[in-house]
Amino acid sequence: MAAMAKDGAENLAKRVLAGERRALARAITLIESGRDDHRAGALALLKAVNRADRQALRIGLSGAPGVGKSTFIDAFGMMLAGLGLKVAVLAVDPSSARSGGSILGDKTRMDRLSRQPAAFIRPSPSQSHLGGVARRTREAVALCEAAGHDVVLIETVGVGQSETMAAELCDIFVLLIAPAGGDELQGVKRGIMEIADLILVNKADGDLKAAAARTCADYAGALRLMRKRAEDADGFPKALAISALEESGLQTAWAEMSALAEWRRRSGHWAARRARQARYWFGEEVRHGLLLRLSRDAALDGMMQSLGDAVLEGRESPSVAAAHLLERFDGGG
Ligand code: GDP
Repeated sequence: MAAMAKDGAENLAKRVLAGERRALARAITLIESGRDDHRAGALALLKAVNRADRQALRIGLSGAPGVGKSTFIDAFGMMLAGLGLKVAVLAVDPSSARSGGSILGDKTRMDRLSRQPAAFIRPSPSQSHLGGVARRTREAVALCEAAGHDVVLIETVGVGQSETMAAELCDIFVLLIAPAGGDELQGVKRGIMEIADLILVNKADGDLKAAAARTCADYAGALRLMRKRAEDADGFPKALAISALEESGLQTAWAEMSALAEWRRRSGHWAARRARQARYWFGEEVRHGLLLRLSRDAALDGMMQSLGDAVLEGRESPSVAAAHLLERFDGGG
């Protein structure tokens, strides 16, 4: 059984490496599967496609609903396709898990790009936890990279923790915001600004053009006041005004992303960032795997529930309760 899974995975890996779209789609379905018997094949597949010579530029793109993410990805992706680049779009969408359906990455939202033969669009995996969504998206990114995509766009809705996780999946993090009057900086949490490499103020067109320029200047000012990170090239992080609808500023945005990527490659920050991310995801996988082992053991799971209640009701301290559980775990359940 295991040998069969391995053969199948190796065959699938060959087809992914040859750039076959259907194989890529199947491969992602395999890694997203929650079934234990699929997981061995998924791991064999990931091992077989691991090729250091294939590196895409991984761009994380975050923004609140309605800010223009799909409009931007459609226009930006088309522009990249026009440059002869193979683009993949993946989504980290915690809300799709709740609704059971997927919202981000929906093909109808990226109408033109979805009809591009060289482009690959994949909705968010439906997992019950953001961590699960992000872990599987990370593997999908690796598969897209192996399939020869030059640019992988990882889209996430700007809510809660999702952008922190998205930042661990990408080489460059882009934040899309809308122009606003008055206290616009209030709308974006500081934590998000701290991980952004590029802030794109979208909808800089028509009546909103002047407001977009003001918002852009405000953000540029705020970014200048922030502590510079070692991996920031000169002048980064930056704010730019664009219009996804009128497709203006997209080439400048791409030029900035390329310049930053190139600088990070040459300075060693690119490799260092990827290495740090690999270490982060290793930790996430181990943590998740251990929790899964705990919850799958009926006795341990029951104990976790009752100790959780005891902590909740103040009958036990978190540390003592955790120590009890882990002692039992060490003892083999
Ligand atoms: P998402 O929820 O972030 O994916 O946002 P959408 O791409 O679906 O866009 C939300 C709304 O904003 C739609 O009505 C778009 O037509 C509009 N929109 C997107 N980009 C622009 C833009 O550059 N300028 C203007 N004026 N409207 C835009």
